[in-house]
Amino acid sequence: MTNQKKPSNTTQAYATLMSAQRVILCAHVQPDGDAIGSLLAMRELLLALGKEVLAVCHDPVPKSLRVLDGWEAVIKPHEVADFSADLFCSLDCSDLDRLGDAQGLFLKAPVTLVIDHHASNTCFGMYNYVDTQVAATGNLVFRLYEAAQVVFDPRVASWLYAALSSDTGNFSFGQMDAEFFQQMSTLMQAGLDIVHYARLLHLMKEKVFYKLLGRALSSLSFFCDGKASCMRLTQQDFLAAGTTSEHTEGLVNYALNIPGVQMCFIASETEDRQVKFSLRAIKPNDVSAIASEFGGGGHVLAAGCNMNLPFEEAVARMQERMQQALCP
Ligand code: 5GP
Ligand code: MN
Repeated sequence: MTNQKKPSNTTQAYATLMSAQRVILCAHVQPDGDAIGSLLAMRELLLALGKEVLAVCHDPVPKSLRVLDGWEAVIKPHEVADFSADLFCSLDCSDLDRLGDAQGLFLKAPVTLVIDHHASNTCFGMYNYVDTQVAATGNLVFRLYEAAQVVFDPRVASWLYAALSSDTGNFSFGQMDAEFFQQMSTLMQAGLDIVHYARLLHLMKEKVFYKLLGRALSSLSFFCDGKASCMRLTQQDFLAAGTTSEHTEGLVNYALNIPGVQMCFIASETEDRQVKFSLRAIKPNDVSAIASEFGGGGHVLAAGCNMNLPFEEAVARMQERMQQALCP
């Protein structure tokens, strides 16, 4: 049933949601602000429409997002127990793997709906509301609120702000258009305390982040005549900084925002000795295609993948691939 790959739009996605009564919502592994913001806002929408809803994620809500009201509602896939859903709705996930341990729940569900904005989305649901023109999955959740004529309150506004601002680097990149800022305007009218949440979500960093940043910056190197750059963090770096990969978010941007750099990556060694890559580029380059070649995915200008290789070998592979793209 899952290979029907029906495309969907706001009206159809809304109809699919309305025809269900018991819904499991799930965001991607290692959730970011768009994943958790969309998950919480969608949960609230369905509750307002009288549905029974569970909000699920493979990984715990990161500490940095626990400033959002209601984050405790997010449960692990195994906590779903015997809730028999008539709809599974995936949020902000480009492919089935990104559901992590929630894949079993997806495969059991009689109807599946994918709501996402990634260029690499594989349309793995029965219904696929995939719009690659929006900056965040939160923009699509916003449209569903409008379809349902459910009013935004300050809490919903804070969740959707988390979604919209996270995927645009606090409004500095991504596909922001007039609709995007009309949505932001509506969130402000709904009582969004933007200064409060901008500080909590984007400006404040734990001390260990700065320790890790120091190590990442000292690893910064350039290749391909300065058109590409990379940073590397081994398990030794994480141990020395007293943290885990939880604090790597945003580090990669330091490698990108340097004159002349077109493409960059940060390689982080995971606890199980895999290598997690975050790739970034400026137009007209495409790192989504590179990430996909290594089994990952993402957006044209921001993507990621994992390699199961020794650290230095993985880094060399990625450097080679970027070199091939930039200096053929
Ligand atoms: P980040 O580098 O911030 O972890 O991720 C950038 C973008 O790429 C995000 O949209 C994220 O969802 C996507 N992404 C990161 N890692 C992976 C991966 O391993 N697989 C896929 N499919 N997407 C990824
Ligand atoms: Mn997103």
